[in-house]
Amino acid sequence: MGGEELDYIHQAFEKNWIAPLGDNVNGFEDDLKNYVGTKSAGAFTSGTASIHLALILLGVETGDEVLCQSFTFSASANPITYQGATPVFIDSELDTWNMDPKLLEQAIIERKDKLPKAIIVVHLYGMPANMDKINEIGEKYGIPIIEDAAEALGSHINKKNCGSFGKLNILSFNGNKIITTSGGGALLSDDEELIKKARFLATQARDDAPHYQHSHIGYNYRMSNIVAGIGRGQMKVIDTRVSQRRAVHDRYFESLGKTWLEGEIQNSKPKIFNLSPTGIYFMKEPEGYFSNRWLTTIIVNPDETGGITREDLRLALEKENIEARPLWKPMHAQPVFANAPAYINGVSDWLFEYGLCLPSGSNMSEEDQERVIGVIKETIA
Ligand SMILES: *Cc1c(COP(=O)(O)O)cnc(C)c1O
Repeated sequence: MGGEELDYIHQAFEKNWIAPLGDNVNGFEDDLKNYVGTKSAGAFTSGTASIHLALILLGVETGDEVLCQSFTFSASANPITYQGATPVFIDSELDTWNMDPKLLEQAIIERKDKLPKAIIVVHLYGMPANMDKINEIGEKYGIPIIEDAAEALGSHINKKNCGSFGKLNILSFNGNKIITTSGGGALLSDDEELIKKARFLATQARDDAPHYQHSHIGYNYRMSNIVAGIGRGQMKVIDTRVSQRRAVHDRYFESLGKTWLEGEIQNSKPKIFNLSPTGIYFMKEPEGYFSNRWLTTIIVNPDETGGITREDLRLALEKENIEARPLWKPMHAQPVFANAPAYINGVSDWLFEYGLCLPSGSNMSEEDQERVIGVIKETIA
């Protein structure tokens, strides 16, 4: 926590404005739209609920298809199925680890008889996706874009913030994200009417009448005034949090071989161009891209570590009571989505096999980080 969160919660208590909405919700929504740079923002119970609302607003229904990045957390894709629609998964490019624009266009061309209703693109680990090309493709075929910026508050491309590129964009304030309200999410858009409609659907879709009258199916997805108070306090420290996460990343980079992952895909296997002195590679920011470095991720190439794999590293860390995790397992490889169509080039499978997320908390001390680095160095020595 930053320190001012409790002040906003106290204000809500003093006014006895605990629920349903109130000053903190309005204030948090203003903070978010001003920070990200959209005309409008709505605060909801989670990032997942916000994606669900976005899909409803775009008219996604039973039998529709939605194009979705495969390399992501399941919450990007689950709401597609809530609507009875089918996700069509798109693999990643090696530059950003996010949706590959070439595969995206190929998928659209092959599905032109009934065009997918939306594109869900994710800025994984805080790295912005290739929004220039993806927006261009969306416009060319008239398919709206939902940006899943759950991991990317504070990231930008040439100073344009993640969360401001798509027609509807979502954020998450879950406990593990760069700022947290304990649980929560937001929907951002330049279309104020859409956000108004989202707020309406999220409060049980009550028509304007003195009695309870409903002409739509509603949801209970609105953020409470207490939770939003935490969010207002957290927005005071978002830039500090981004600096802290980037400092953690930079210390790992300096200590573990200073080598960016650069390469291309050949026969559906990525080929690395440059060699790393440690066999460890980091995710490079393309020109003009700025990542909040939500999590520091590394690629471990066993050909260069004397056979030590990312799993060996993970287990060596675990032995020292340090938690590290493999990268996200792509959705096309998840049992629950086994039947979903997918456009695959091998990148996300490769990242999953060789990649590891390192401890990256904003409040991690330098000593703790030295301990993590020490275990990694000892293991690959
Ligand atoms: C956390 C996360 C979500 C879901 O957000 P919740 O607030 O936890 O529902 C969606 N997409 C991605 C990429 C996430 O990391």
